Amino acid sequence: MDRASAGVTRRWLFADQLGPHFLGPPERPGDDGREEVLLVESRAAFARRRYHRAKAHLVLSALRHRAAELGDRCTYVRAEGYAEAVASVREELSVVDPTSWGARALVRRLGAHVLPSRGFVTSEADFARWAEGRRHLRQEDFYRDARQRTGILMVDGQPVGGRWNLDADNRLPPPRGAATLGLPEPRWPVEDDIDAGVREDLDRWEREGLSFVGRDGPRRFAASREEALACLQDFIEHRLADFGPYEDAALTGDWPMAHSLLSVPLNLGLLHPLEVIDRVVAEGSARGVPLNSIEGFVRQVMGWRDYVWHLYWHFGPDYVTGSNALGATTPLPAWFADLAADDVRARCLSTALAEVRDRGWNHHILRLMVLGNWALQRGYEPREVTEWFTASYVDGYPWVMAANVVGMALHADGGRMATKPYAAGGAYIKRMTDFCRGCAYRPDVRVGESACPVTAGYWAFIDRHVDLWSRHPRMAQPARGLARLADRDAVVAQEAARGHAPP
Ligand SMILES: Cc1cc2nc3c(=O)[nH]c(=O)nc-3n(C[C@H](O)[C@H](O)[C@H](O)COP(=O)(O)OP(=O)(O)OC[C@H]3O[C@@H](n4cnc5c(N)ncnc54)[C@H](O)[C@@H]3O)c2cc1C
Repeated sequence: MDRASAGVTRRWLFADQLGPHFLGPPERPGDDGREEVLLVESRAAFARRRYHRAKAHLVLSALRHRAAELGDRCTYVRAEGYAEAVASVREELSVVDPTSWGARALVRRLGAHVLPSRGFVTSEADFARWAEGRRHLRQEDFYRDARQRTGILMVDGQPVGGRWNLDADNRLPPPRGAATLGLPEPRWPVEDDIDAGVREDLDRWEREGLSFVGRDGPRRFAASREEALACLQDFIEHRLADFGPYEDAALTGDWPMAHSLLSVPLNLGLLHPLEVIDRVVAEGSARGVPLNSIEGFVRQVMGWRDYVWHLYWHFGPDYVTGSNALGATTPLPAWFADLAADDVRARCLSTALAEVRDRGWNHHILRLMVLGNWALQRGYEPREVTEWFTASYVDGYPWVMAANVVGMALHADGGRMATKPYAAGGAYIKRMTDFCRGCAYRPDVRVGESACPVTAGYWAFIDRHVDLWSRHPRMAQPARGLARLADRDAVVAQEAARGHAPP
């Protein structure tokens, strides 16, 4: 009798399901009874897009570290595709519902027994109940509901400290004149033989014709559970206290600032967001970390991360391909797609692109207010931008990109997610970063040699859609501002002439 007919089940884990909570039955995640596991390394998965090499490295390193941990409980299949790998095992397979529309269809097609999804604070059923009958799915309302449901940072049904939202305390610009926040350097993972093997394989794959973008420098993000827990501890000890106030600030010489660098291990499934939140709340409070930092962090993980996850399913499989409310059709220029930071003179853009080239990572404000804002202003095609973010970022997955890129950065869904576009001129970048210092352009100049392309681009963007903005409750003010610009025609003509060359 083979094992399938004997009723033995093996757990198939995707590469973003690598923590202990993806094993065990639905009622006791993590309690795995030494369950047997299937891990698949699919080379075809890396051929679908031109991925950042550091991302390919991380995914392979994480898969192989997990296989080493599981030892002989794990069947590790190297195959071109998943169907081939699944066909090679004899047991029935169970799988936690995966994280993309495509993978969900695949596991059903291949006949695996599908368990409810894991890896988020709130369940898909929780979200459905919350969303039912609501006209607007506001992130703030979702977050408050999740706080009440979980009791996190709550006392007697009220938010700890008396306020739900401490964002007003969390918008400090970087300290004046500082090159860095002056925090200890994050604790970096130490590469091992597994990483060396991954590098060799990636070199070979490249020689055989697979194409990557970006540099595969020393690995900066956690690829095993042990590393992920150490990274969390390091964040709590050294950066959490400054996380809140400097959340939105950026410095050229300090790429991590006070951010957690946890999106990679969270999205690989190495850490459960609730364990991260519980430790940040308990240890942060014990260390006297100010509430605005603790709450600001909980808001990111439980508020934003869960919210964009649920929106991915709520908006449906055609959200990315079918959203282009602003009629944006500009193909991604090669300098942007290829991360050619050194060809760019505008320091905000060159810094952000260099960070992506070197590590496949930026913190939120560079993604949203530098690169996203630029793509919005220049009318880059939303599907191409989404593909670019998904392939270029070490923490990028389809579920996290949909709402962040299409909804938040590009406003391509016509306001289903964000009530107004996150469009800004150079003044915002000057206030919140040091990028304008020493830049060839001046954020307060709209026309001429030193005109800031972000400032001029902002007004050209407002001009392009002025009829729409004039009727928009939250954009009517910039539309009126545009009408008052004496040099409006010159700005628009200048930006049209700039074309899509690197600024
Ligand atoms: C255009 C754009 C693209 C983005 N792409 C990704 C992506 O590919 N993968 C990704 O995980 N996040 C993405 N984000 C959200 C956010 O920028 C990153 O999660 C964050 O910068 C990761 O760094 P960190 O772990 O140090 O985060 P921290 O600033 O320390 O925040 C803590 C955690 O909160 C979560 N988080 C915060 N904001 C968001 C958000 N908007 N969406 C989802 N999770 C959030 C992340 O898990 C993050 O690790 C994107 C945002 C924008 C605007």
